[in-house]
Order: sequence, then structure tokens, then C-alpha cells
Amino acid sequence: MKPLSSWGRLSAAPHHVVQLADPALVSWLLARHADRTAVTDSTRLPEPSAPAFREEASPQSGIPFGMGRSYGDACLNGRGTVWATTGLDHLISFDRQSGRLRCEAGALLRDIQELVVPAGWMLPVTPGTQLATVGGAIANDVHGKNHHEMGSFGEHILRLRLLRTDGLIIDCGPDLEPEWFAATLGGIGLTGLVLEAELQLRTVPGPWLETETIPYGNIAEFFALAAESEAAWEYTVSWIDCLASSGGRGLFMRGNHCAAGARLEPTRRSLTIPVVPPVSLVNRLSLRPFNEAYFYANKRKTGRSLTHYKPFFYPLDNIQHWNRMYGPRGFYQYQSVVPLEQGAAVTTQMLAEIGRSGQGSFLAVLKTFGTRQSLGMLSFPQPGVTLALDFPNKGTSTLALFERLDAIVREAKGRIYLGKDARMPRDLFEAGYPRLNEFLKYHDPGMSSEMSRRLMGI
Ligand SMILES: Cc1cc2nc3c(=O)[nH]c(=O)nc-3n(C[C@H](O)[C@H](O)[C@H](O)COP(=O)(O)OP(=O)(O)OC[C@H]3O[C@@H](n4cnc5c(N)ncnc54)[C@H](O)[C@@H]3O)c2cc1C
Repeated sequence: MKPLSSWGRLSAAPHHVVQLADPALVSWLLARHADRTAVTDSTRLPEPSAPAFREEASPQSGIPFGMGRSYGDACLNGRGTVWATTGLDHLISFDRQSGRLRCEAGALLRDIQELVVPAGWMLPVTPGTQLATVGGAIANDVHGKNHHEMGSFGEHILRLRLLRTDGLIIDCGPDLEPEWFAATLGGIGLTGLVLEAELQLRTVPGPWLETETIPYGNIAEFFALAAESEAAWEYTVSWIDCLASSGGRGLFMRGNHCAAGARLEPTRRSLTIPVVPPVSLVNRLSLRPFNEAYFYANKRKTGRSLTHYKPFFYPLDNIQHWNRMYGPRGFYQYQSVVPLEQGAAVTTQMLAEIGRSGQGSFLAVLKTFGTRQSLGMLSFPQPGVTLALDFPNKGTSTLALFERLDAIVREAKGRIYLGKDARMPRDLFEAGYPRLNEFLKYHDPGMSSEMSRRLMGI
């Protein structure tokens, strides 16, 4: 047993961590991999000799754990088992002609990008960190800054191989066992362990993007910029100042891939937050000067520039352990999406609540999602506008603020992102995810997490 946290560091309960690189389990997995005929969809029944995964790994139920970059309890199972996947990190094959890549589910997005970008390919959808696993990206059906063009991660998966805890292996994809596929995309690990996946990459002219930063003064200007940018810019995102006095100002960033000739990748100084400070460094006192400084420093740098994909997509990845800055009590992220029609009014209302509470942090993102429907039964993205903010954990006052934000989201028929959540009430979850009952049919009874018990009672 060892203490384990997710990215929000809200808890550190002991877990029985089973590394899937353990020889016994992995040799069995590899044997199954090698025996291609035994794992096609025609073999839907486990072979009698195949040990049940659950028995091999642990007698209890558990949940897969990738890099623990989800903020809440989707990857946690306090006092129970987690199956840690980062040992299953082989990049199995990459076809430079077609851009198809097969890899094990513990492979990091970073390792894929490092392999394929020099060959003119890239992940079509990437979240704001590349230190996430492919399995985690599938299980949260993650989105990036280009949702309006590319949808979510699951749209680019051709096949995935799912291992149920009873030993059954299911190959699925958009055209093979599509219900299993739809349940597993965004299925927060509850349909089984994803062993490997085949991805369709997209071409890029190189690692550089032409980017532009535009300051905006209020929410209406944000929506005008978003509407104007979506036809011509693949990536759009904005930083928003959550202080009550800011009037909804922010910085709108947009980008397109471009050819930039041979250039050296910029060196990024890697920083580390070495220890957990005794109190959160993000508080009422630090927020105002930081937001002022950030807004004006970036306002001066507005205009077009050439930006390498790493700082553009993953601005925080070179600050190791940045989540420690919130101190020993950790932090929450609240990410919601609401339909576009009410977007401006709802965002204004939410920011007013947050401003009044004096909580929030400088990590605040506002962006629109396009109209593409995600394939996953529990996928988060839906057409509309998404607001994501970090909040230092101040206990009851933070939870009380979330209740007020929940009421706004509920009223607007929106939903909260499972990959970020640690506390949403069950009724809001059920209202936001109307395909829940369909999803539950695909639940692997050997899979259970703190989140699944909290929200689904499984
Ligand atoms: C700085 C930062 C920026 C982020 N930006 C974005 C963003 O822009 N968009 C976005 O969508 N998300 C974003 N995220 C969230 C992150 O991308 C997701 O939480 C992602 O799922 C993390 O992957 P992981 O490998 O750490 O998975 P974990 O957090 O370890 O697990 C996440 C879920 O995946 C399941 N899982 C993991 N591996 C497997 C497997 N092999 N088989 C089945 N289930 C599995 C777990 O059980 C759990 O339910 C961000 C996170 C951080 C820290």
C-alpha cells in the first residue's frame, strides 16, 4: 500500500498499486498480444486457460491509473487497487505513409509527439499536457484547443483493445463493436483496461505554429473573437481574468500550423516547485497582482509570432510539480460546458459568483467547443462554451461556491467534466450525461473507483 493522489492533491489515501510491468501479469498480456488470432473480435469468450486479470492482479476490484493527470477521483480507489499502466509504454508500429500509429495504452502523448513530429505527423487532438497516457486520453476522451476542427481524442482512434477483468479481450473501433468503443471513450476506466490503441495521426508541415494573441476587454468581445476566428484558425483558446474588478477581460490566443524552415527548438528552462509550501501560494493577496502583471505583460506582446508546438500546447509542462503551489490542502478544478446560446449570460453569471467569492486562481481558461458530437457515451465535450478554473481548496467555502456554480450549470443544461471533478452531486451528473444508463451495460464489475462509487454507486 502506498499513498496516491491525483493532480488536484486533495487526498493521499493508501492504494494497493499494481504495476502492470510486473512480470507475471505482463507475460500473460504479451502472450495474448502475440497470439493475434486469439484476440480478434471473433474470439469473444475467454480461453479456459486464461487467468482472470482480476485474480492475477489482485483479488479485489480496481481502476486503471495512467499518469494521474486527472484532477479529481476518476483514477483513485483509496484503500483499494489501482493498475498502474506506465510500464505498458511500447510504441508498437508507426506507418509514415498513412500516419497510423499503434501503441500500448501506457505510452505518453509526449513520446508519440517526439517520434512522429519529425516525420511530419502529429496527434490530431492533444490536451494541455503531454504528460498523459494514451489510455488516460481515451478514458477521458480528452479535448484540445482545436475542438471545432478535430473534435475529441476518440474521433481519431481506429481500434482499441480492451481487457476485461474476467480475462475477456475485446477489439473495438468505430466500425467494430461500436457500442463497446462508445462506452470506453470517456468511460473513465470502467469498461476494462485499454491495453493498446491504433491512432490516425494528422499531417503537419513541422513543429511550428503561427500564433496570435489578442487582448479582449469583456465577455462579448471574447465571443466575437471566437466566432470570427473559428473559420480561419485551427486552435483557439483564451485566458480570462476571474477577478470581480476585471470586467471579464482576457487574452485570446489562436494558432495555425505553418512551415517555418529549419529552426532550432527553443530551449525552455525547466522549473520545479521543490516542496509543498505550508499554505497555498494562490490566494486573495497574490491573485490580483499576478493577474494584473500577466494581462499587461502579454498585452504588450500582442500580435503574430512563430511559436513551437510545445509552449503553445503545453505551457505548464516545464514547471514540474506546479500543482504543489496550492499547498497541503490541494486544489479543485471546476470545468463546465454550457450551450452557446446562453454562453455569454452564463459565463458572466459564473464569473460574477467567482469574483464575489474572492476564490479562483490565475489558471482560468475560456473556450468554445465546435458542433462535432463526441462518440463516447460519457464524453464531456458538447457544442457550447467551456470555462475551466482552478480553486485552492478552502474547504466548506469552496464547496459552497461550487454549489452556486452547479445551480447555474444545471439551469443552463450544461455538464461538468469528469476528468476534472472530485465533488459534483449525483443529480447534476445524471442530468448532464443522458447516456448514463446505456453506458452502465458495459461496466466491468471488476472496475470501481472513488468516482464511480460516488456518482454511479458501482
Ligand atoms: C496541465 C494539465 C492540462 C490539461 N489539459 C487538458 C485539456 O486541455 N483537455 C482535456 O480534456 N484534459 C486536460 N487535462 C486532463 C488530462 O488530459 C486527463 O485527465 C487525462 O485523462 C490524463 O491522463 P492520465 O494518463 O494522467 O490518466 P489518469 O488521470 O491516470 O486516469 C484518467 C482516467 O483514465 C483511466 N485510465 C487510465 N489509463 C487507462 C487504461 N489503460 N485503460 C482504461 N482506463 C484508463 C483511469 O482509470 C481514469 O478514469 C489536463 C491536465 C493537466 C494536468
